[in-house]
Amino acid sequence: MPGDVRVRFAPSPTGHLHVGGARTALFNWLYARHHGGVFILRIEDTDRSRSTDANIGDIVNALRWLELDWDEGPPTPGYRQTERFDLYREHAQRLVAAGRAYYCACTPEQLEAERAEAQARNETFRYSGRCRKLGLTSGALRLRIPDEGATVVDDLIHGPVTFDHRQLDDWILVRTDGTPTYNFCVVVDDVTMRISHVIRGNDHLSNTPKQVLCYEALGYPVPAFAHVSMILGADRTRLSKRHGATSVDAYREQGILPDAMVNYLARLGWSSGDQEIFSRTELVERFDIKDVSSSGAIFDQTKLEWLNHEYIKTIDGARLAALVTPWLTAAGLTPPADAARFVGMLDTLRERARTLRELVEVGRFYFERPREHEPKAAAKLFTPAGVQRLDTLIQRLAAVESFTAPALEALYRELVDAMGLKLVDLAQLTRLAVTGRTASPPLFDVLALLGREETLARLRAARDAGARAATSPAGGDK
Ligand code: GLU
Repeated sequence: MPGDVRVRFAPSPTGHLHVGGARTALFNWLYARHHGGVFILRIEDTDRSRSTDANIGDIVNALRWLELDWDEGPPTPGYRQTERFDLYREHAQRLVAAGRAYYCACTPEQLEAERAEAQARNETFRYSGRCRKLGLTSGALRLRIPDEGATVVDDLIHGPVTFDHRQLDDWILVRTDGTPTYNFCVVVDDVTMRISHVIRGNDHLSNTPKQVLCYEALGYPVPAFAHVSMILGADRTRLSKRHGATSVDAYREQGILPDAMVNYLARLGWSSGDQEIFSRTELVERFDIKDVSSSGAIFDQTKLEWLNHEYIKTIDGARLAALVTPWLTAAGLTPPADAARFVGMLDTLRERARTLRELVEVGRFYFERPREHEPKAAAKLFTPAGVQRLDTLIQRLAAVESFTAPALEALYRELVDAMGLKLVDLAQLTRLAVTGRTASPPLFDVLALLGREETLARLRAARDAGARAATSPAGGDK
């Protein structure tokens, strides 16, 4: 029922936000937004030796960057497991009182010996249940698992998955030192946060029957489960650092746009017909957990970059300007104060860059004068004849009435006719002089966007460099 959906993303802050985690967060977020439900962020930091505040900050920032906003969670207190020990204790007591859990005094050595015996018989080790009937009042707290029967997890993605109780053992809820175990915390959190749907990676599927039995022992309704398949590398093994970048931060640093990342992650395992490009609104409208594939999805960097390019091509100019500005600043470059001019520059670059990083590279000539001119082209074009042509261009461009792309093109056409040249002759010379390179966005747009003063300054600098090269025996343009 709408309004009743409560889902959560529950990262363990033992590292950066992995793309797999980001996709899990996204699927939960989409599910909540689609159903008008609540999306909760919970930090599973009970593993104190590996959880750090820096990692929490990093995960929070990555989620913010992806614009996956949560309705409940940090910084509100109570959403970190380390703040919830009273709840775990309380629930453990309830299980003891109801006779659904018992204390076990077996020593690690005893258990180890039993494990070794099982291994020798080629069997999976299951705790024998030796302490079940001893009525102990301290030790490790174990959940009493029924000896017979099976638990069926009716997974929304995988369908029913049956777990025979003979394969499960009386697992530990609270260790001898009083600390609750991971699976127990998850159950208590999910019931107390009234989670309706648990959407998580299928590496947790094997935990699910244990958790389901714990819900039942506590007398709580069992939520629905959806276990999302793993993200794989090109070799079909689980995506890991061996395959390259795996953290959301790394993609941000490559210059991937947050919207493109969200779109790409959504399509990793979820589909709606053949469509590849979805706005956030469309994703929210169309997302259904039933359309998530039960097999692993391969992470494809080329496709991500293709998608990112599609976003760069079509994103609103002002938004692109806002996204690129920190990149320019980091590269020591300053965008023009005139916002329309800046957007005009970006418009000429969209086709040419798949990432924001590439966009800065192909467009940096707009924001700084060329430090050098491509040497091979300079040797060919900055000849005495080239220097003369640059002189002519400087005079004519200083005098042209309107410094717009069409007026500049008309002037160039008139000049090449008068000089018996082809347009390319003057265009390549100008391009090299102004951008330092032999390839650039359409030349007359570039000149108009740079403006008269800047264009003239660059042409003069190139002319002077060319003149120097002609008189220096070593040549060159350094
Ligand atoms: N903390 C677990 C993880 O990061 C998620 C557990 C869950 O979603 O139930 O893999």
